[in-house]
Amino acid sequence: MNKKISRFLAETVPETPCLVVDLDVVAKAYDMLRRYLPIASVYYAVKANPAREIVAMLAEMGSNFDVASPAEIALCLANGATAERLSFGNTIKKERDIAAAYAAGVRLFAFDSEAELDKLARAAPGARVFCRILVSCEGAEWPLSRKFGCTPELAVKLLCRARDRGLDPYGVSFHVGSQQTDLGQWDGAVASAAAMFSLLAKADINLRMVNIGGGFPAQYRGDISPVSRYAGAVTAALTKHFGNQLPEIIVEPGRSLVGDAGIIQTEVVLIADKGDGGKRWVYLDAGKFNGLAETMDESIKYRIETPGRAGETGPVVLAGPTCDSADILYEKADYRMPLALRVGDKVEIQSTGAYTSSYASVGFNGFPPLRTYCI
Ligand SMILES: *Cc1c(COP(=O)(O)O)cnc(C)c1O
Repeated sequence: MNKKISRFLAETVPETPCLVVDLDVVAKAYDMLRRYLPIASVYYAVKANPAREIVAMLAEMGSNFDVASPAEIALCLANGATAERLSFGNTIKKERDIAAAYAAGVRLFAFDSEAELDKLARAAPGARVFCRILVSCEGAEWPLSRKFGCTPELAVKLLCRARDRGLDPYGVSFHVGSQQTDLGQWDGAVASAAAMFSLLAKADINLRMVNIGGGFPAQYRGDISPVSRYAGAVTAALTKHFGNQLPEIIVEPGRSLVGDAGIIQTEVVLIADKGDGGKRWVYLDAGKFNGLAETMDESIKYRIETPGRAGETGPVVLAGPTCDSADILYEKADYRMPLALRVGDKVEIQSTGAYTSSYASVGFNGFPPLRTYCI
């Protein structure tokens, strides 16, 4: 348990549920990534946690930002980043939002289709553009496959078209899937990117950048490798496929920078026995709609603690507080809690700094969005 967060919770006794983020942990994760992956420029994926304090601190530390919408652009600009430090990485943009970003000074844009490229040509003339390619995302606990990217063959055609339409064909991007547990996944993706560099060189287009996306993990229930090993695998893949002609490298961490920095404190609202001989049901005041969306299909399995309650444990089904039966966190996964657990007890959900507050609904069933405290 993080001592700084413990002290804050003990002294402030905030209303639950709430997310408490230790900014020192975010700063340390940023420093470690810079240390182990010095070849890459860091673009923080703002969607992981858009708290103003996090953006401001990372801007101060020199980070760039991967943004997906006008509101994320405004957030970064208002908190210390300049437009040339932003990458509009969403491949699905309204043309008027592209134009607004361009007017604000953004000059780096992602695309993965012809129609999006044509919007960029009209609304962001001369901008640097990169094409996202499809990768399998095998081994990822939160895959980002299919919806994003095109085949490398199509990407080559589109980057030629980008030049013909007056854009600057700048590079290639991919995302191997979030919470990627297989260190081998970067090799194939980097190989595809390198092959595109060669093919385009034949068409007299010299790409200059590879965006290796995110994917580095946070510490949930399973074991993970340290960032040094991830950085090692990425660097090895880049060296293998690009030799000593390394292009500019962009990395877009979200989860790995902020995930382990946060704890959600919740309260037990109800403990129920259904009379069917099954597990105890434990209902918390946080659920799928106010912060724990990534428990969808029980994909992300958080570490959960019950401070002050020890002793014998028994299996539980964990659920949120709303009147929606989709609001069950874990039923199949084996979660156990002390038999001594009581209504009103605090329950702490660890490593919840990423994809929690930003995924909370504005007030489904009247439950307010997850409040964040950055300390
Ligand atoms: C969400 C996202 C990221 C962050 O991924 P993590 O796995 O959280 O590090 C990076 N790049 C893009 C384009 C994204 O959409």
